[in-house]
Amino acid sequence: MQSRQATAGAVFNNFVNGQWTASSSGKVFENRNPANQDDLIGVFQQSTPADAEDAIGAAERAFASWRLVPAPRRAEMLFRAAQMVAERKEPFARDMTREMGKVLEETRGDVQEAIDMTFFMAGEGRRLYGQTVPSELRDKFAMSVRQPMGVCAVITPWNFPMAIPSWKIIPALVCGNTVVFKPSSLTPLSALNFVKVLEESGVPAGVVNLVTGGADVGTTLATHAAVKVVSFTGSTDVGRLVNQNAAPTFKKVHLEMGGKNIIMVMDDAQLELAVEGCVWGGFGTSGQRCTAASRVVVHERVYDEFLEEFSRRVKALRVGDGAADGVQMGPVISEAQLATVMKYVEIGTQEGATLVAGGHRLGSGSHGRGWFHEPTIFGDVTPSMRIAREEIFGPVVSVMRCRSLSEAIDIGNDVAYGLSASIYTRDINKAFSAMRDMYTGIFYVNAPTIGAEVHLPFGGTKATGNGHREAGSAALDVFSEWKSIYVDFSGRLQRAQIDTQDL
Ligand code: NAD
Repeated sequence: MQSRQATAGAVFNNFVNGQWTASSSGKVFENRNPANQDDLIGVFQQSTPADAEDAIGAAERAFASWRLVPAPRRAEMLFRAAQMVAERKEPFARDMTREMGKVLEETRGDVQEAIDMTFFMAGEGRRLYGQTVPSELRDKFAMSVRQPMGVCAVITPWNFPMAIPSWKIIPALVCGNTVVFKPSSLTPLSALNFVKVLEESGVPAGVVNLVTGGADVGTTLATHAAVKVVSFTGSTDVGRLVNQNAAPTFKKVHLEMGGKNIIMVMDDAQLELAVEGCVWGGFGTSGQRCTAASRVVVHERVYDEFLEEFSRRVKALRVGDGAADGVQMGPVISEAQLATVMKYVEIGTQEGATLVAGGHRLGSGSHGRGWFHEPTIFGDVTPSMRIAREEIFGPVVSVMRCRSLSEAIDIGNDVAYGLSASIYTRDINKAFSAMRDMYTGIFYVNAPTIGAEVHLPFGGTKATGNGHREAGSAALDVFSEWKSIYVDFSGRLQRAQIDTQDL
């Protein structure tokens, strides 16, 4: 990514206090198509900490009135926004494929997820349920309500550039918070498309603010005293930093981070189905999903048969520009990510794993101007190898052998991360044992590790997350605080736990 003085052409601004404004830095950065570096999508604001502070100020002022807008009214705007995204699904998907590379079918799915999440969360505007419970004292009423928290910082990665922002921004808004949103600098256009819809749907000035830029903007959001919640999705290293930066001001920090997800293929599995699941789980979004199935462990009785069919299918995948007909896998996001993938192919080879498919950059012909890599499978991987333990975040799948379900589960759990896992088996006992014993936030039976739906909690354990969940009604716990309320209508002092004889 290059930073330079603003030039003529497609210049996209920040959105602060209801105005589309340039950064005070006067600098912009370029957004280029990872399938074709000659395709300049536009330039976006290289914002400064001062720009972030302006946005935080606007969000803080807007909170004073937004928190008092009845939740069903807030929701009406969000329902409108969901409808508008639905109407623009195709152009938004095309913009997304152009800026981050995944195939159109998948970017349509990404936009659809934003639509689903926005509709689902808007529905919460007429729920946001609390509790009413009996009091232990006479003539006293007890209840709990959710209250908004204030300014929420939303920091997002590039791999789901509309879905992930929607998972954070929409629940934050329906709860009555205001938002400062810093998207990845690799996918600012999808972020801007989403924010524009929120503007057009009637969300008042200052309630949602967009500030594009780098780590210094993120650091300002994580440290600023007026920010009450930070919802971050990205790498584990950056998540740790965000957590540390937010600690002195006691913010609520919600972290969704890396993964090293596993598919377990048992000897009684329907092998064709398992292979199909591994192709989709391993190579969807070029393996750049937090839930990507980057590890597969196969029972030794079916290992050879599985690997042969898996590599046959993967070698046949058509790699190219995600906007082109018939392409099944797009580029990786950037030159740096391509270098990481190539480095791990080298590491795997040196560790003694067997390269059974792919392994090379695709850099000539129609691939010549993009960041393309062959879909790659390593066989004979052992659980201690780095390619079996570290998140590569690219089209590389490590296949291991196991002799039993319990060995598969041990291998599955023995990594730093805990996002998603799956099992292919026709034995219900094995399926339920694995479901119970895999320590992950998400588990699938006879399906790959990807495919979460918006109305269930989403998130991971260990180095993937810090105990919160997004999506589903669980997301409301990130963006609201409980207030317990006692109303005494007895007209006298009643003391809880003390006036026990009075009843
Ligand atoms: P990243 O950590 O590099 O960046 C994420 C965001 O953090 C970006 O907006 C970035 O600009 C910002 N950032 C960078 N430095 C910062 C700092 N010091 N303070 C605050 N913000 C800062 O991640 P990425 O490359 O965009 O995304 C890939 C990673 O995201 C992978 O590790 C993947 O597993 C993870 N991911 C996780 C989930 C999940 O739900 N668990 C979902 C998608 C992606």
